[in-house]
Amino acid sequence: MKKYSKQREIILESLRERKDHPTAEKLFMDLKKQMPELGIATVYRNLTELCEEGLITKVKSKKGPDRYDGNELPHIHFECKKCGDFIDIYLTETQIKQMHMSMKKLSTEVEAEYENSEIYLNGICKKCKKIAEKVV
Ligand SMILES: [Zn+2]
Ligand SMILES: [Zn+2]
Repeated sequence: MKKYSKQREIILESLRERKDHPTAEKLFMDLKKQMPELGIATVYRNLTELCEEGLITKVKSKKGPDRYDGNELPHIHFECKKCGDFIDIYLTETQIKQMHMSMKKLSTEVEAEYENSEIYLNGICKKCKKIAEKVV
């Protein structure tokens, strides 16, 4: 059995708890407060491993570096173009099924076999919309 480090445990635990989809750097800065001996290379290595094992997911951002997500519930992401927040949108099982059905249909149009899709939404979040409305 592979022996896992304490650091890896803390990285995973922290990602399971937080909902802000931090970048590797942000996570490193926050964890360094409780683990001064932690190095950025360790954070990167563990994040890559955790992704490969499917324990966390890497989320691509249009605005900046990749973000990391430890939320295990099925959901899709909405990225705010203004503040860069990632918001989780939860889907019901029916919604997921419907989505996969339409993806499958689209794939058959090019005679490909559909396996998976990553849905990504972007725009302006509720918080930034309110700020914009106040200015006007
Ligand atoms: Zn925003
Ligand atoms: Zn998420």
